[in-house]
Amino acid sequence: MRRAVCPGSFDPVTNGHIDIVTRASVLFDEVVVAVGVNKSKHRLFTAEERLDMLRAACRRFDNVRVEGFKGLLTDFCQEQGIHTVVKGLRAVSDFDYELQMAQMNASLADVETVFVPTSPEYSFLASSLVKEVATFGGDVSGLVPDFVHERLVARVAERAAEDDD
Ligand code: ADP
Repeated sequence: MRRAVCPGSFDPVTNGHIDIVTRASVLFDEVVVAVGVNKSKHRLFTAEERLDMLRAACRRFDNVRVEGFKGLLTDFCQEQGIHTVVKGLRAVSDFDYELQMAQMNASLADVETVFVPTSPEYSFLASSLVKEVATFGGDVSGLVPDFVHERLVARVAERAAEDDD
């Protein structure tokens, strides 16, 4: 069985992530979307919230499951018996870091990285940018699933209210 992992922090899941998961689900028999749950102050959503949103977004796929992982991705791959990592490449600017990471992961474990070029309509899309635009009241509906958009608008408003206190 050909299995692959799509890793990330998914804070929050965007339509660009779903595009890559969709394409990985066609290429592989089973896809595990692995959500990094290491503690970080910079996240807008908790690990549970990010996992919840991804599970809802991936419900449509028969061969995709969503799991959290702590620590090294290569340790997670070994635990799960997975030897392929799928990453989306948005632009040349992604390449340097992704190549370095792919080579590091290959040196740590028997793990190959497969790069999938982003669909052009999502090449500008990143969770960090979506959060930044949403924080300043920009319209990011259409870039994330509708239910994620609702939670994003609500969370950004909560954070703004906290900052006013
Ligand atoms: P990070 O691990 O840097 O927090 P993200 O959670 O934002 O990354 O994204 C996880 C992975 O999803 C990225 O490494 C990339 O492979 C893929 N990805 C993110 N955004 C897009 C996009 N717009 N199109 C295609 N792939 C994407």
